[in-house]
Amino acid sequence: MVQDSMRFEIDWTLDQVQFRASIRKMIKQARASGKVLTLPLFPLTGDGALELITIITSQVRCGGCDALCCKSNPHGSDLSLLPSEYRRLKEKYGDAHLQATGEEYWIKMPCGFLQGGQCTIYPDRPLACFLYPFNPGGEGEGGRMAIALESRCPEARRITRDFYMTSWRLRKLYTSLGNEDFVKILAGELEKVMPSMQGGEKDA
Ligand code: SF4
Ligand code: SF4
Repeated sequence: MVQDSMRFEIDWTLDQVQFRASIRKMIKQARASGKVLTLPLFPLTGDGALELITIITSQVRCGGCDALCCKSNPHGSDLSLLPSEYRRLKEKYGDAHLQATGEEYWIKMPCGFLQGGQCTIYPDRPLACFLYPFNPGGEGEGGRMAIALESRCPEARRITRDFYMTSWRLRKLYTSLGNEDFVKILAGELEKVMPSMQGGEKDA
């Protein structure tokens, strides 16, 4: 699943209009050159990465997309399966859409499990499908592992745009309010919502 990422210089000091334009340009370039989009997130632990991936994949809304990812693998090959996934799918659905070469296992692309624009094995889809458009091969600033998304996926592009614009707004607030004020205001806002988050408030 490793795919090249582009090295982008993100200039957080730009004004909002310029910053939005720079992010659009970055996304366009990544898409045109088949590179992944890296987000400025650098998880330090396995659990941290898992949480970030969970948040990102839960944001994907595929309605309106023609299942691009099921019609061709962005990496120019068939879709790689873990041995246990291959065995499970073969046992349940037969091997008409599967392929095994030595110790390597694949779903042939375009995927034969896609019918009428729907995945016919959705609850049993392999890990690579479940995680898409997340890509673990992204490399960010300083060569560190970054959270990266496939630029060919329209939802990945939307999430990337939203992420950078939200991050730009937060950074502006952080610097305009001053570190201490920002933290105090944030803590105050969190306090207001925490009782309900912890189930401390009774339902109406
Ligand atoms: S390419 Fe992206 S938006 Fe389209 S079906 Fe795949 S995950 Fe969903
Ligand atoms: S198994 Fe389902 S989700 Fe995965 S490529 Fe095939 S149709 Fe798409």
